[in-house]
Amino acid sequence: MARDARCRCASGRKERRCCGPWLAGRAAPTPEALMRSRYAAYAKGDTAYIQQTTDPEGPLFEQDTAAWTQGILRFHRAFRFKGVRILDAPPAEGDEGFVTFHARLEADDADGSFEERSRFTRADGRWRYHSGERLGGGT
Ligand SMILES: [Zn+2]
Repeated sequence: MARDARCRCASGRKERRCCGPWLAGRAAPTPEALMRSRYAAYAKGDTAYIQQTTDPEGPLFEQDTAAWTQGILRFHRAFRFKGVRILDAPPAEGDEGFVTFHARLEADDADGSFEERSRFTRADGRWRYHSGERLGGGT
């Protein structure tokens, strides 16, 4: 990764000034920051980051890490990640927060873009993705 590469969340900022620190292991300070960095991780195919930042109590956590890794990579390869737009990110309350976003995903023959309201939980000072509710787009 080039030092001055643009962040894959498509914020327009350089990765090291955007999601880079969280992707490198520092705790994302807010649910919104974690959400953006997870989008960037999907764009990069960083399966370990997706898995580490998924709440084990949530419905998307998979015990079979190898199968989960393949599933994340299939999603990564299926689309071009064109950016994420935060629609709503109210301040977290305690160890729970919500972020509503629009994710732009393009494939040669399909538009995979969607909107989702995601729930995040915090444990040991780290935000994690718990679950999401699709609001529209995609299929
Ligand atoms: Zn970013």
